[in-house]
Amino acid sequence: MSKFFSKKYDALTPYTPGEQPRDMQYIKLNTNESPFPPPEAVVEAVKREAGACNLYSDPTCRALVEEVAKVYKVRPTQVLPTNGSDEILNFAFMAFCDRDTPATFADITYGFYEVFARLHGIPYRTIPLKEDFSIDYREYMGIHSTVFIANPNAPTGLALSRAQIEEILVSNPDNIVVVDEAYVDFGGESCVSLIDKYENLLVTQTFSKSRSLAGARLGLGFANEKLINDLNTLKYSTNPYNVNRMTMTAGVVALQNQSYFDEKCEEICKTREYTKEKLTKLGFFVLDSKTNFLFIRSDKIDGERLYNQLKSRGILVRHFNGERIREFNRVTVGTKAQMDAFLLAVTEILKENQA
Ligand SMILES: *Cc1c(COP(=O)(O)O)cnc(C)c1O
Repeated sequence: MSKFFSKKYDALTPYTPGEQPRDMQYIKLNTNESPFPPPEAVVEAVKREAGACNLYSDPTCRALVEEVAKVYKVRPTQVLPTNGSDEILNFAFMAFCDRDTPATFADITYGFYEVFARLHGIPYRTIPLKEDFSIDYREYMGIHSTVFIANPNAPTGLALSRAQIEEILVSNPDNIVVVDEAYVDFGGESCVSLIDKYENLLVTQTFSKSRSLAGARLGLGFANEKLINDLNTLKYSTNPYNVNRMTMTAGVVALQNQSYFDEKCEEICKTREYTKEKLTKLGFFVLDSKTNFLFIRSDKIDGERLYNQLKSRGILVRHFNGERIREFNRVTVGTKAQMDAFLLAVTEILKENQA
């Protein structure tokens, strides 16, 4: 840290993104990207748009917002596109939390919530997941705090039902409930349809996972017009052109090709269940995933050891050092061929460790 760095960030621990090593070609199952490229129509449209990059992008993102409104059956005024959904989560912490309005989230969830809370000096409380790693929604009822819930949750993959989220919304009428639906397209129940019903609901989604656009950085916020206006105040105080031209175009054309992504999501879900079955046969404990990853543990091998041995065989998964989850690895569901390579490596590693 330089002597110039503001003291207010003394204790800040930044988010640690999944590793992107260059030393060799890995089978990348560590950051929950899609194994499929975006459709050709998206690539072509982005190429064309690049020619107009001398001009700023549209700060209102009108074309994208209108397309989103059509696909999600909401009004354009209820949508805010952002530079990845991390940006809208950041805005939500800034807009709806402060010293008197703390944040609450699960002890095991998306690591960025804690980073944002600390970045903005927001007091926060974590609620432990139950023994089985599920969220007890009743513990979030009437807590007088801004709530952040990843649904489905990461890295567990477990989901709450829409009805359970509604209980949280109803019981916290004076606080915002942020539902982070980064993985909802892989089997969760979305709450976007509830934004007219609950004035305290903000739903976030991303194009990074189910829409093959992690590198383009595009997220969406859904809420009533007043909340979207609040968030826009922060956007226009930070970076009015937060979504660049190519990304905006990618988003519009992606939405026009929804059937491509529906097919790919279905394929990933099928491969997920296939992989889960094989891992269970190998003696793994596998949580019931509604996402594009599996959270797995084996009594036969230590979590970090499995991670390291997979890495030395060219397969990257994500290992977290948290106390309750040290024995687990989070494995992104790739193509069937990638998962077969992963399963073969796991089988060999288990054998070697027995001998
Ligand atoms: C991946 C992820 C995000 C953010 O993704 P962006 O790439 O910033 O859109 C948000 N929440 C959860 C739970 C995620 O896993």
